[in-house]
Amino acid sequence: MANIERGLTLVEGGLVLVDAGEAPARADVLIRDGEIVEVGSGLAIGEGVARISAADRIIIPGLVNSHTHSQGNLAKSHGDRWTLELLLNSGAWMSGNRTTEDKYLSATIGAAEMIRRGCTACYDLLAEIPHVTVDGLVAVGQAYEDAGMRAVVAPMLSDITFYRAVAGLIDAMDGADADRARGIRPLQPAQIIEICQQALVRWPFDTTKVRLDLAPTIPLLCSDEFLKACRELADEHGVGIHTHMAESRVWANLGKMKYGSSLTRHFDDFKLLGPRFTAAHAVWMSDDDLKLMGDRGASVAHNPLSNMRLGSGLADVPSMRRHGVNVGLGTDSCNCSDSLSMFESMRIAAYTSRVIGYRVADWLRSEDVLRMATEGSAKALGWGDKLGRIRAGYKADLVFLNKRDVAFVPLHHFATQLVSAADSTAVASVMVNGRTVYDAGKFLTFDYDALVTRAEKAAERLWLANKDNREWALSMERLVDGVCSGIAPPAGSAHQGQA
Ligand SMILES: [Zn+2]
Repeated sequence: MANIERGLTLVEGGLVLVDAGEAPARADVLIRDGEIVEVGSGLAIGEGVARISAADRIIIPGLVNSHTHSQGNLAKSHGDRWTLELLLNSGAWMSGNRTTEDKYLSATIGAAEMIRRGCTACYDLLAEIPHVTVDGLVAVGQAYEDAGMRAVVAPMLSDITFYRAVAGLIDAMDGADADRARGIRPLQPAQIIEICQQALVRWPFDTTKVRLDLAPTIPLLCSDEFLKACRELADEHGVGIHTHMAESRVWANLGKMKYGSSLTRHFDDFKLLGPRFTAAHAVWMSDDDLKLMGDRGASVAHNPLSNMRLGSGLADVPSMRRHGVNVGLGTDSCNCSDSLSMFESMRIAAYTSRVIGYRVADWLRSEDVLRMATEGSAKALGWGDKLGRIRAGYKADLVFLNKRDVAFVPLHHFATQLVSAADSTAVASVMVNGRTVYDAGKFLTFDYDALVTRAEKAAERLWLANKDNREWALSMERLVDGVCSGIAPPAGSAHQGQA
């Protein structure tokens, strides 16, 4: 018996959420090798099983962040009144001059925040300046591996700069500024693909825990040749594609000007849409675009906080759902969200669905939002059959909430109280792949105090190192905003729906 029981852990005595729409019910969870074997009461367990008491705990599936950027964690809250385009204008200084160690550190800060806030897996779109590197990608993968968090790492890739992609922007600049903007040269498509190919071939991690995908980052920043190459590489390795699709009206309008069709149609022309495709934001999509996404089995990573922070608009999630699009929930980056709290994302997602002008019947219910933050995001990460539920065959990625947290006292409707009342202070402990990584206010996989010291030192050094790029970018802000306002005049109404 002892041999058979080896490697088994029994989480006992907790209230387990087996379905987002139901009340959590008393049950035990049996785990073997990081996977849930059985959920129920009175499980026949022999001797020698490790036991974890979950008395006074409500156990939910780990929250899954379907869209974030680890480089942002060392650039937390730079910029306040920024549109997406003003943020992109500052991208080079916010993420520039990073060592490989900085990239590891930045991802670890994010892992710490997400774990602390009850998130067990994320889709990390990593930007490296000036370009993607194998070492950088592996360092970020290592950060998640060391923190004990599950992640899909997807390098943000482009072969066209922001300054060239925004029609008329360089032309509007003075001579020296125009020369400087023109002088920023990305790698050629073949060079970028070669680096990604190397990273995919040499990827040293268990891909059920830390996987590598590709993120041609914004459609207008990718040439047709490059998009085609990305799709071929993704197909070759069976990995997913993630992009920022129609995030702001500026990009949606630029797309129509350049392609004569929507960005979604343009991506579909390159056969990029499919079950392994995730479109972040999707604020400025038409009904036709959403139908296409649904027909192709694609996912949206919905980032309601970032969409409001950057003034991008309110994504039409009720229509996405009507068209059968899988919707996951994300936080976006630490410089446009700004916390990596899926609790905040859930609450804002629930409420934004109510102010875009639909009938009550279309409003997202609390359990809908909770499903988006678990099952929906898991599917967007390509792990829909392994994450997001507490049931046999799924990974043991579990969050233990304090049942005595005031948000649950008294407990009437769990999903509503989780979404509308609780925050991450209710998180008592976090388990990923059967391993407890956070408990009673302490990280068990890394030294948090040392992380704080390193983060502060790195931020100080990077602030100085990026001075020149920062000053130039900030001096360009009025011009960038002016040109972008010409492409998409700021609208007064809250939701326009159509690009
Ligand atoms: Zn993003």
